[in-house]
Amino acid sequence: MSKIGDNIQAIQKALPESVRLIVVTKFHPEEALMEAYEAGARDFGENHVQELVPKAEHLPKDIRWHFVGNLQRNKVKRIIPFVSLIHSVDSKRLFDEVLKRAEEAQRVVDILLEVHIGGEETKEGIAPSELDELTKECVEAIKERPFVRIRGLMGMASHTDDKEQIRREFARLKRLFEQQKSHYFTSEESLFDTLSMGMSNDWPIAVEEGSTMIRVGTAIMGERNY
Ligand SMILES: *Cc1c(COP(=O)(O)O)cnc(C)c1O
Repeated sequence: MSKIGDNIQAIQKALPESVRLIVVTKFHPEEALMEAYEAGARDFGENHVQELVPKAEHLPKDIRWHFVGNLQRNKVKRIIPFVSLIHSVDSKRLFDEVLKRAEEAQRVVDILLEVHIGGEETKEGIAPSELDELTKECVEAIKERPFVRIRGLMGMASHTDDKEQIRREFARLKRLFEQQKSHYFTSEESLFDTLSMGMSNDWPIAVEEGSTMIRVGTAIMGERNY
């Protein structure tokens, strides 16, 4: 088996069955994605619309495509027809655009709300203090127009060697997940079941802290050529 296949198998073996592996394939060529596909991977993550769309056109149709990066509103429309899960909804404006395009396409689109849990200054992810308000508004919006399902939360820990800090950040995201679930997603049909956390360097900690979905790029595909 290929190196990529070996890497996938090693991670799958260490993962509990309840945790899904997303292979993050951004900046890798289609041949490399096919190696992952042949090793059994079906969940692929990309973070640029202009890269995702042609890959999705060319590669096998049973791949589930995950959008994991910063999503510009003017590009939402292009991924709505086929995307499996958008991990990075972090504002009401972006949510509204996804809902509008999903309704136009008459397709129910699954999303996660992205929360800023790391220490770094980035624009991505809603502040934990603002999450409750965002969830409330989004839940309200889909009451009459059920074209988006809020499936859970996503977050990225700080880039640091301090494992205890990473653990605290993931534990915080897990607590936020449980809070949102108990406030807004108690009914049977709500399906708030996904906690997307953990990347190449920190996924074992994320799994210990309750992740249900890890997003692994470099540790499977190798270094990216930007
Ligand atoms: C690139 C990326 C990953 C994968 O990162 P690696 O460190 O290469 O595993 C995971 N999540 C998001 C949101 C990313 O942008």
